[in-house]
Amino acid sequence: MRASVSGRHTGCLTDVAANVTADPATPRPRTRPRVVIIGSGFGGLFAARALKRTDVDVTVLAKTSHHLFQPLLYQVATGILSPGEIAPATREVLASQRNADVLLGEVTDVDLAARTVTARTLGTEHVHHYDHLIVAAGAAQSWFGRDEFAVHAPGMKSIDDALELRGRIYGAFELAEVAAAEGRHAEVPGLMTFVVVGAGPTGVEMAGQFVELSKRTLKRDFRHINPADARVILLDAGPHVLGAFDPQLRARSQRALERLGIEVRLGAMVTDVDAEGLTVRDAAGVESRIEAVTKVWAAGVQASPLAALLARQVGLEVDRAGRVPVQPDLTLPGHPEVHVVGDMASLNGLPGVAQVAIQGARHSVAEICRALSGQPTGEPFVYRDKGSMATISRFSAIAQIGRLRLTGFLAWVMWLAVHLVYIIGFKSRVTTLLDWAVGFVGRGRSERTVTEQQVFARLALERVGNDLPLRLTRPAPSAD
Ligand SMILES: Cc1cc2nc3c(=O)[nH]c(=O)nc-3n(C[C@H](O)[C@H](O)[C@H](O)COP(=O)(O)OP(=O)(O)OC[C@H]3O[C@@H](n4cnc5c(N)ncnc54)[C@H](O)[C@@H]3O)c2cc1C
Repeated sequence: MRASVSGRHTGCLTDVAANVTADPATPRPRTRPRVVIIGSGFGGLFAARALKRTDVDVTVLAKTSHHLFQPLLYQVATGILSPGEIAPATREVLASQRNADVLLGEVTDVDLAARTVTARTLGTEHVHHYDHLIVAAGAAQSWFGRDEFAVHAPGMKSIDDALELRGRIYGAFELAEVAAAEGRHAEVPGLMTFVVVGAGPTGVEMAGQFVELSKRTLKRDFRHINPADARVILLDAGPHVLGAFDPQLRARSQRALERLGIEVRLGAMVTDVDAEGLTVRDAAGVESRIEAVTKVWAAGVQASPLAALLARQVGLEVDRAGRVPVQPDLTLPGHPEVHVVGDMASLNGLPGVAQVAIQGARHSVAEICRALSGQPTGEPFVYRDKGSMATISRFSAIAQIGRLRLTGFLAWVMWLAVHLVYIIGFKSRVTTLLDWAVGFVGRGRSERTVTEQQVFARLALERVGNDLPLRLTRPAPSAD
């Protein structure tokens, strides 16, 4: 006779009758349902954590070994925070979760019919069977079909991106100092012009930080240039800054940015980018040139290619942002065992924000629990909008929460508190708080270290081929 185990798991209780024998003297190894999660971002990590008390085995497969808190990437790029504070090792975060296994690997294939996921780690392929799959591979930067712009206008989606930008930003001030010291004054304005493309929250935050850096942090550090002379330009092809916010908040933000000295150019489409600057077409169709060595691309995202791979297998087409249209319960049609959450899923125009990924992950876990305990599934995902916030500069932010609209210092304090709550780990919260005190109360920044490799490694790798690490670490085939 078989008995089912009950009472130990409170969250999602699986009927494990098939896995447990009644006779304790002859225990059989239990094979529990396996949930594979692709991605360790907001969707992936929160899904894994939500499965903590469930009677399943969890495999988290991600191409980075860390969970990344993307909203604070701009603070790594501008030297306020260190990478470790916003990107804890996933393995460490899940260390005490005994049912979770963390594997590094880039997923290259998902076979919905065979229920397998194929991943590659430094040239070695591994295949994982799943009973339930949660795909949360997020999105990458999009240059709207002009990927060549990335050479001179890098995006900000990863730790590598942020460190490269940090190197470029601080490096530009160094080059300007050398040029001025050598009497090459004509080169200085281009080196001290910083252009941010995209006036969403990331672009606005980045532009605000350029002002903070030049007017406060670096104020006394140079002898031949005056960092406060730096020119900061914020461009957007659309008609507003912070287009997703309430019109009043948008207008106030634009005024606040302009008061800081930022040149806001709206209806401005970037048509070309090179090492020395970029070309912009305005709303009237007139093209003009901006000389600026440092450009940051904060416009547009493209879902992970895994979205298209899944869509093809179920006869769907991805949307313009490459996202797969999911069923109301976040599953794929005909595959109630496959859940797609976060930035790579398209449902009812939900925005690509962390809360959509987190709540989607929790919803998918609840669905898996229902399936495992034999209850009906297919509950539609209901997103609860907890509000939106963006910082403009030190002590200045905007927030809209339901009907509440906040600006200035109060909104900024709220922004700090919310971000502190979502940073993973007590240690990171404490050090982040200290770094914020250094950066916001004082004038300094804790993370100003930059190296040449930070700036050039991506471009060098692209030139020699992204398989270089593999070629370097594997022995060359012998001649005979
Ligand atoms: C600069 C920036 C600022 C932002 N600011 C805010 C903000 O202030 N507020 C807000 O709500 N949202 C913000 N967002 C958006 C928010 O970060 C995303 O909506 C959220 O991260 C989406 O979560 P996700 O799990 O779908 O994807 P992600 O968090 O991007 O995670 C994707 C995961 O998948 C992994 N992965 C990707 N491809 C593969 C593959 N082939 N194989 C294996 N693993 C793979 C990645 O390594 C990563 O672990 C910001 C985003 C950026 C880039």
